[in-house]
Amino acid sequence: MSNGSVTAAGNKAVQTNPQGPGNVVIAGAGIMGCATAYYLSKLGVAATVVEKGEVACASSGKAGGFLALDWSDGGPVGPLARLSYSLHKTLASELGQDTGYREVRTFSVAASAKPGGRKANTGKNGPQWLDGNVQKIKEMAEEGTTAQVHPQKLTAAFMGAAQAAGAKLVRGSIQGIAIDKKSNSVTGVNVDGETIPADKVIIAMGPWSGEAAKWVPSAPIISGQKAHSILVRPTEPVGPDCLFTQFQNSSGRHTDPEVYPRPDGTVYICGESDSVSLPDDPMSIQPRASAMKSLQEVGAAISSALSQGKVEAEQACYLPVSGDSTPVIGKLPGVEGCYMASGHSCWGILNGPATGKVMAELVANGKATSLDISAFDPARFSKTRRGIFC
Ligand SMILES: Cc1cc2nc3c(=O)[nH]c(=O)nc-3n(C[C@H](O)[C@H](O)[C@H](O)COP(=O)(O)OP(=O)(O)OC[C@H]3O[C@@H](n4cnc5c(N)ncnc54)[C@H](O)[C@@H]3O)c2cc1C
Repeated sequence: MSNGSVTAAGNKAVQTNPQGPGNVVIAGAGIMGCATAYYLSKLGVAATVVEKGEVACASSGKAGGFLALDWSDGGPVGPLARLSYSLHKTLASELGQDTGYREVRTFSVAASAKPGGRKANTGKNGPQWLDGNVQKIKEMAEEGTTAQVHPQKLTAAFMGAAQAAGAKLVRGSIQGIAIDKKSNSVTGVNVDGETIPADKVIIAMGPWSGEAAKWVPSAPIISGQKAHSILVRPTEPVGPDCLFTQFQNSSGRHTDPEVYPRPDGTVYICGESDSVSLPDDPMSIQPRASAMKSLQEVGAAISSALSQGKVEAEQACYLPVSGDSTPVIGKLPGVEGCYMASGHSCWGILNGPATGKVMAELVANGKATSLDISAFDPARFSKTRRGIFC
């Protein structure tokens, strides 16, 4: 364990609430871990966040950051998304940091790598920067219902604010959870061979959260789905419109890339999923070269400003996916003091703030009060496993 901020021996979390939950350790400094640490700090609990790589080194630093108010309505995630969307609106001023937040218009676009065919009319107020091989453009969201944020900046701002309130960041890899056999409760966390005392542990390791099943038998299976992205700096500024694209590439293959111009002048383009196994080291994830070419082809096809643009980043990361594609937020059955916040798939940046808020309430006060989180209860998976943990 390297002590970016603190050693294992000196690692007792400062707890400012005497009635509080004891030592709280959060496994993983992605958006789930950092948002939870931030909202815990607002409840007077200074947690210790243990991170194997860097803050936001995985998908929380490489995601698009697109936010939608009502696209999850009608399903279990709807209320979580609505709460989180409203939290995002005020976070930049609350955290006192530039998080890259802004409201955006969102369009569905049909385009192809091959020139020719009928060109779409962008209209007077449409995305005029789409001057390439674009066949259809349609606005797909009502005003005020879509927005964006810079995921890495937001995650780092959460962690910074939590640290300013007394939370600790420890660099190291969690390799196990110590459980007292008599009381069946958590007593500590094994970080690179050293034990950090803990009364409560929150597993927020994104696609690596599945490893927790080795430590706590009731932990649900979480797997990883690889996806790619690039950042392009256009030769001239483009509009702030987010695009969901049906794209036919130069080999005739149909893909669905997403294109998000950012306030810093870059344009984020993502897509190209792969079914390849999750590497142990989050910092070792490499993009597939052909995926990078495909994403560049998208930019070049839709806009002249992007066709000559400079590619500033080529990257890949893994979505955390649960067994029923619904987030896992709550207490793990069978062991006292163990929690999970994971499995948010492609909406983790949108739902990170609300997840952190309800998780903090649950851990600090024993109950989530901002939202009914029963739909996300980890025990739903235990029931299907012959009811052994119910
Ligand atoms: C290409 C792409 C685009 C996306 N775009 C959007 C979008 O536009 N909008 C949206 O809402 N969502 C988007 N998402 C989804 C979003 O990025 C994720 O749902 C979210 O970032 C998951 O956050 P997390 O904290 O659960 O996991 P992660 O960000 O993966 O963080 C987990 C952390 O745990 C650490 N860790 C792992 N194992 C250990 C260990 N043993 N000990 C200590 N630390 C450990 C890792 O190093 C990592 O930092 C996108 C995802 C992808 C892949």
